[in-house]
Amino acid sequence: MGKTKRELLRGFRHPETTMTIGVLAIQGDFDAHRKRLQELGAEVILVRKPEQLDQIDGLIIPGGESGAFLKILGALGIEKLKEFVLLKPTFGTCAGAIMLAKEITNPEQPGLGALDIRIRRNAYGRQIDSSIRTGRLGDSPLEMVFIRAPKIERVGAGVEVLATEGKDPVVVRQGKAMAATFHPELSDDTRVHRAFLELIGNGQPH
Ligand code: GLN
Repeated sequence: MGKTKRELLRGFRHPETTMTIGVLAIQGDFDAHRKRLQELGAEVILVRKPEQLDQIDGLIIPGGESGAFLKILGALGIEKLKEFVLLKPTFGTCAGAIMLAKEITNPEQPGLGALDIRIRRNAYGRQIDSSIRTGRLGDSPLEMVFIRAPKIERVGAGVEVLATEGKDPVVVRQGKAMAATFHPELSDDTRVHRAFLELIGNGQPH
């Protein structure tokens, strides 16, 4: 008996492609990102060695302490990451956002230069050191968990603002690089991680 049209079509369908995402796991809040990415169907590699960067389609640099990231990575690790962010989508949250910036203050420190922004570390002062606030992602409200968060003080012409809290830009994107000054992995809402997976899926040109 001949195959039905539906059976024939099934044979032509592209196989589902699973994305492999790395989460930098040398320090800080990497495990919540791992869980979120797995919930969304991605394959996750916890990146601890530079050669693992060759196995992934995108990278998350989590929250933590950006000064500690720089120390642990060392000059060689930083060079490797600089090359990576030019090639593949990278999403930095909080300390990760600081790592991706071109200009960092309070105190000044080097960054990967993937985002043309100036970002100020620990910008909310001691009183509101950490807080949960409602900002806007596009047109809709979004819960945002800020922990000793930085503030984006300058946004270059090529940088798109995807989310705001009050008047401040809190999620930005430039080419393949994306950053959030808060911790989307600590809220139940999955939209920010989904936006990053879409960025990988779309294969942004630069
Ligand atoms: N205060 C940290 C820094 O300056 C960032 C805090 C965080 O990642 N939650 O690097």
